[in-house]
Amino acid sequence: MSKDDDGHLPTPEEITRKLSDFMKANFGDSVSFTSSVMPGFNSMNEKPEDDGERVDPIAEKRDQSIFDFDFHPRDIKSHLDRYVIQQEEAKKVLSIAVCDHYNHAKFLRRLTKTDPEQAKQIEFAKQNVMIVGPTGVGKTYLVKHIADLIGVPFVKADATKFSETGYVGADVDDLVRELVRKADGDVELAEYGIIYIDEIDKIATQGSMIGRDVSGRGVQTTMLKLMEETEVNLRNPNDIQSQMQAMFEMSKGKGSKRNTINTRHILFIVSGAFGGLEKIVNKRTRQGAIGFAGEAREAVDEDKILKYAETHDFIEYGFEAEFVGRLPVRVVCEHLEADDLFDIMKSSEGSLIRQYEREFEAFGIKVDFRDDALKVIAERAAKEKTGARGLLTVCERLLRDFKFELPGTAISELVIDGELVANPAAALDKLRQSAGAIGDTKLVGEINSFRRQFEEQHGIRLVFEPEALAAVGEFSEAQNMNALQFCHQQFRDFQFGAKLIQKNTGQDSFLLNRAAVENPDRWLSNLVVASYGDRTSVSTPSNADATPEGSPLASDEADLPPSRDSGTDPDSARDGGGFV
Ligand code: ADP
Repeated sequence: MSKDDDGHLPTPEEITRKLSDFMKANFGDSVSFTSSVMPGFNSMNEKPEDDGERVDPIAEKRDQSIFDFDFHPRDIKSHLDRYVIQQEEAKKVLSIAVCDHYNHAKFLRRLTKTDPEQAKQIEFAKQNVMIVGPTGVGKTYLVKHIADLIGVPFVKADATKFSETGYVGADVDDLVRELVRKADGDVELAEYGIIYIDEIDKIATQGSMIGRDVSGRGVQTTMLKLMEETEVNLRNPNDIQSQMQAMFEMSKGKGSKRNTINTRHILFIVSGAFGGLEKIVNKRTRQGAIGFAGEAREAVDEDKILKYAETHDFIEYGFEAEFVGRLPVRVVCEHLEADDLFDIMKSSEGSLIRQYEREFEAFGIKVDFRDDALKVIAERAAKEKTGARGLLTVCERLLRDFKFELPGTAISELVIDGELVANPAAALDKLRQSAGAIGDTKLVGEINSFRRQFEEQHGIRLVFEPEALAAVGEFSEAQNMNALQFCHQQFRDFQFGAKLIQKNTGQDSFLLNRAAVENPDRWLSNLVVASYGDRTSVSTPSNADATPEGSPLASDEADLPPSRDSGTDPDSARDGGGFV
């Protein structure tokens, strides 16, 4: 490997590119290069390492995490509760399994340091987990959040991928190598990672079952080895790039000290929908009941039957006894009903709704999902029969045109309510019209910047009615300013009155009309006074002109009636479409 003219050594990416070009030129497409930088493959521009004692930043970080595992099952479950709706049993079972697994790992690691011989003698049945449940109900989501919480690398794959290829063994081993990559090359941490394999039911081999792959048995055997304990080569023997890296590192004397990774402490979680398993369980439980009591047992709720699945049912389904035996912890994830989907949108911290809010916000549009809309979205999603994934399908279909049409227009508010969901085209038309009425996008852009700055600085939201926008345009032009400068000048004291009102009534959003732009102090003073009162008649800010001139902005004595008219309620404006 030669240096550049300036003595610069090529980076791993450059080498990869060059090698890749070389391979292509010589072998065509029959040899391919993976693009990932392999673990332990340091940039060659790095200075040679000292021979003395080195501080390993990964090891340091790691010492603070997994090997100090100090969670109780309840801690893990309450973390999961923040994200995952329903699936109570699965949350509980996984929390316990994970605690047992990592407490044991911690114990063994300590013992290995003090008494390695005894540590070798300790027997431990690993708590690998099998989750039975339909698609989109939170299986992956659960595992991912557990891995995040406890700080171990996590890899997910579909079992179908293995049964489709000829290189079963190599592919399955790749999962383990992928863990090392996820752990930034920290082999020891990867040895405590989580491997999650979905669609495990597709590698069942029973001839009577439809669509099963004949190579399933082979995959089961290979996985079985991993689940028990085996050493996996850190370099894929079929991957030329990684082999060359190994050679290179060896020649530089800086390769990883380890060539293999042990799978003894890797936690395996597998899952699948197991279509047809309910029939097997049903048949067995029925027979059992008849045999025992001589009469038909009370029918178990069809939906819940999978809970009663036992080892022989999985064997009859098409799994090797040893394979099922390595998955002692089993739990069912339930179907999600429309109500659950509604709860997911409302209360999961990872709710799709937050994602939509962020996406629209990036275009300067504040989106507000109302419950009546969420109910309909949940009902439609439930009909998709893809669990919570249906939510994305429904929202995407519903909001696609809004996301395309609204950015760059004068619209800065989007209320998604029952009416919009019932007739999105009409709602979009209405918004287009109000955007057209607002017109001048430069003006709107400047006012929006002002609104954003104002909200960031004072926590108060301003909404401009079209007539207010027009007034800003008119007055700023007359004063030879742009709209942003004008607003800063005109509303420089607005926050004082607005905060008083906020303190008195909790209102943090103001709908401005022409009068508010003309004379913000006078307009607001009426509302401030009203915010101290609490009953009788209403004085509208649209009538602010009628308010006695010089009315105090914050009059403690004044006992004017409360003003709860539509002019102060931005929701009323939003319901009618969006204004800036
Ligand atoms: P699967 O059960 O097929 O593994 P996932 O866990 O990947 O499904 O779910 C897909 C997405 O749907 C998740 O990323 C999450 O946003 C959402 N989701 C699914 N189930 C739930 C649930 N029970 N609670 C909250 N969100 C969920």
